[in-house]
Amino acid sequence: MIFCYINGSFQEKSEAMISIEDRGFNFSDGVYEVMAYCNNTILNFSKHLKRLDNSLKKLQIPLPLANKKSLKLILKKLINLNRLNDGYIYLQITRGNAKRNHLFPNIIIPNIVIFTFSLEVDNTNILRGVEIGLTNDLRWSRCDIKSISLLPNVLEKQKAFENGFYEYWQIRDNLITEGSTSNAFIVNKNNKIRTHPSNNFILGGVTRDSVIEIAKKNKFSVIENGFTTTDLDSCEEAFLTSTTVGVLPVVKFENKTINDGKPGKITKVLIKKYNDYLKNQINAKN
Ligand code: PMP
Repeated sequence: MIFCYINGSFQEKSEAMISIEDRGFNFSDGVYEVMAYCNNTILNFSKHLKRLDNSLKKLQIPLPLANKKSLKLILKKLINLNRLNDGYIYLQITRGNAKRNHLFPNIIIPNIVIFTFSLEVDNTNILRGVEIGLTNDLRWSRCDIKSISLLPNVLEKQKAFENGFYEYWQIRDNLITEGSTSNAFIVNKNNKIRTHPSNNFILGGVTRDSVIEIAKKNKFSVIENGFTTTDLDSCEEAFLTSTTVGVLPVVKFENKTINDGKPGKITKVLIKKYNDYLKNQINAKN
């Protein structure tokens, strides 16, 4: 049996139900988090919690739990019930159930749904690097909120798959914002790591923030002022970051090959350092 958690109880996943008047279902009126779980440890837990808190506050949705400690207890119990060793946790909180109306009702109780899942991470992608397409950013101007409204991201990821790309990096006002499921980085000729600033045009990735911290600690220079397609043409290395893939090398943009089609030196250092950083979290727990 596989369990999920819904609004206070652990239920068998195939039998769990949510109202058809859930505002997440009707309006995408909700937020989510995806966390990685490895060897008894929820990785980057406090960073995920902080982002969840921020997303909820921006939408004026209260956390439907007694406190943040109780969330950890729920996650641990779900992990144990599902005998998860390595995998991922999906957590979604919506505004709650109400008669369909754009206006928020005065009294409403948020819905919380949590389930676990496994994912085969393709190691060949990490070793060989991936190819990226470029497209205009069609999303709204509050990409900082980890909203469950992911239609542009879904459509782009599908289009990328159909065109043989890992994903598209999106362009807004001449700057590369991010990928449809990840944050975007390049390394320029002077070994400077460049990425979009953490503002309302990107999701402030937990992996992004961790990798920036690690890079700075290791004396790499990180510039968070964005980069253009012209910068892409002259970059030495590129990579993307997300919870599900960690640090993933990029070796080609459309028809332009980077670093002879091989993952870059600095990218490889960051992959190792990021893995060490996750291992340290696991060791600290055990
Ligand atoms: N940007 C977008 C649009 C994403 O969907 C994700 C993954 N959820 C990320 C960035 C990476 O965020 P994180 O490192 O927290 O997984």
